[in-house]
Amino acid sequence: MSRVYDAVVVGSGAAGGMAATELCLKGLKVLLLEAGPKLDLAADFHHHQKPYQFPFRGRIRPRERAKYNYAVNDWNRPSFVNELEHPYTGKKFVWVRARAVGGKTLHWGLVALRFSPRDFEAARYDGYGENWPITYEDVEPYYARVEKMIGVCGNPDHLENNPDSRFLKPVPLTCPEAVLRAAVEKKFPGRHVIHGRSATATEPINSRAPCHFCGHCGRVCNVAASFSSAGVLLPIAERTGNLTLRPNAVAWKVLTDKEGKARSVLFVDRITRQLEEVFGKVIVLGAGCLESTRILLNSKDEEYPNGLANSSGVLGKYFCEQIMAGNIMGVVPKLRGRKSFADDARPDGTGIYIPRFRNLREKHPGFIRGYGFEGGGGSGEFPAFARKLPGFGAKFKEEVKKNYAAVISIGSFGEVLARPENFLEADPDVRDAWGVPVLRINVEWGPNELAMARDMVETQREIFEAAGIEVLSERTTPLPPGWSIHEAGTARMGDDPRKSVLNQFNQCHDVKNLFVVDAASFVSASEKNPTLTILTLSMRASDYIAEAMRRGTFA
Ligand SMILES: Cc1cc2nc3c(=O)[nH]c(=O)nc-3n(C[C@H](O)[C@H](O)[C@H](O)COP(=O)(O)OP(=O)(O)OC[C@H]3O[C@@H](n4cnc5c(N)ncnc54)[C@H](O)[C@@H]3O)c2cc1C
Ligand code: SF4
Repeated sequence: MSRVYDAVVVGSGAAGGMAATELCLKGLKVLLLEAGPKLDLAADFHHHQKPYQFPFRGRIRPRERAKYNYAVNDWNRPSFVNELEHPYTGKKFVWVRARAVGGKTLHWGLVALRFSPRDFEAARYDGYGENWPITYEDVEPYYARVEKMIGVCGNPDHLENNPDSRFLKPVPLTCPEAVLRAAVEKKFPGRHVIHGRSATATEPINSRAPCHFCGHCGRVCNVAASFSSAGVLLPIAERTGNLTLRPNAVAWKVLTDKEGKARSVLFVDRITRQLEEVFGKVIVLGAGCLESTRILLNSKDEEYPNGLANSSGVLGKYFCEQIMAGNIMGVVPKLRGRKSFADDARPDGTGIYIPRFRNLREKHPGFIRGYGFEGGGGSGEFPAFARKLPGFGAKFKEEVKKNYAAVISIGSFGEVLARPENFLEADPDVRDAWGVPVLRINVEWGPNELAMARDMVETQREIFEAAGIEVLSERTTPLPPGWSIHEAGTARMGDDPRKSVLNQFNQCHDVKNLFVVDAASFVSASEKNPTLTILTLSMRASDYIAEAMRRGTFA
């Protein structure tokens, strides 16, 4: 008889990594299946190499561009998928995927924002969609525990719609950021420019080395000062002695027994391409929003012909995320020619954040919900603004140096409504390199997103004008769906099994020993980046599983 684990967890990113760790800490024997390889965070990435040490300054070679998504470069490529091996079909959609132990947390931008009370009951405010089956009060203790575990730096700003975390010390603003903040807060009452909130250890925490300000987070933090599942969570899980990690295991489907309970996970070995089946009392999917839903859709059988746990017909529907429309870069004239500092040595996710101000106190006539801006200013290792300056030779270099410390940019992230028309389905005609049916992704911007996008562009101009910033470049059209890498929804939670896939503990209504702990469970996206909330919900669900296990529920 094959071994039956207490829990089989699929995926080792934020969601699966947290579930595996929390369950191991509670004494459960956990098998963690991860589709990608286990990489060495220090040795497998070109962490401190300079742009000029690569043939294309770190960019992907032109002949290889079809293989990689836009986030990939020569520093970080070992963990990202080869797009040619991982196709998907449907409408135009950008699906950025990392397949390695740690998932996308190896490269995420570290912006760590709590959802607000309003985010969990957005429908109550504007009548659109569904409220979550949980409130902010339900998750607040878990936010606090997650933050204690991973470390989030920032400044307590006491804003109603942006609850403070238990912060480590913030990273100071740069000069252009301080100029923007002073202007915005003076000219637009109700708008704020706050320190970026970043999952970075700016102080020693839980025996982790603090950040040494090298500024290379996106290339994987080789000392685990910034949060990644591989660098921070899984070492904790491993120390319990309860974790069995199985890299290179591409989960295909969840199999059920005669009573309709989840019995096992069928996976393909990524290297040998052999099929294997592993058994668990509980199965926890944390493969990333779209991948977990894909596994459920591919798990259809006679009892569940539309996909496992899909008696509601909601599985795959109500995709949501954030639209990225505006982006603007400019120069603060009074800072031109000033001495430059090591601004680019700050960790990702610091810089500035302009929280949502639309549809909080007043009602915008054109759209519901809101957006925030993320940004940063100051010198950069490879100054992107140089491409926007005219000229060449010595004069050009002089001009670049003059503007070096004076440049600032902001970009917007706006809530995409969870609509049934934005949905995923399994494509019966196309398979990936491992023979697993791929997703057909049917997502388009709706009128609310497009109206919001227009407002984002007007607002970014208004803000820069108010601060006297000279515009160097501007993007005014929305990037395609998926670009934000903040996919959510498609197996949403709810109290009513006819309208949702999961209950408030991320447990499938139809299959009680099956859980989905990633952002597939989200009811709505909010304008805030999802990862802190993914970690929080996964921890909460894992506590629920461990307690149920203790009571003998899943014996
Ligand atoms: C460049 C970049 C910047 C980002 N910036 C931010 C940010 O600033 N703030 C923020 O909140 N979020 C950000 N994100 C998004 C963030 O990374 C994700 O929200 C988060 O990683 C999601 O966690 P997850 O566990 O659901 O998915 P992932 O982290 O993607 O982990 C899923 C894991 O499951 C594995 N897997 C997938 N399919 C299978 C299968 N069939 N079988 C077995 N294993 C499987 C994958 O290999 C992966 O390791 C960013 C992402 C990127 C790439
Ligand atoms: S800046 Fe800090 S968090 Fe980022 S890679 Fe360097 S040490 Fe790690």
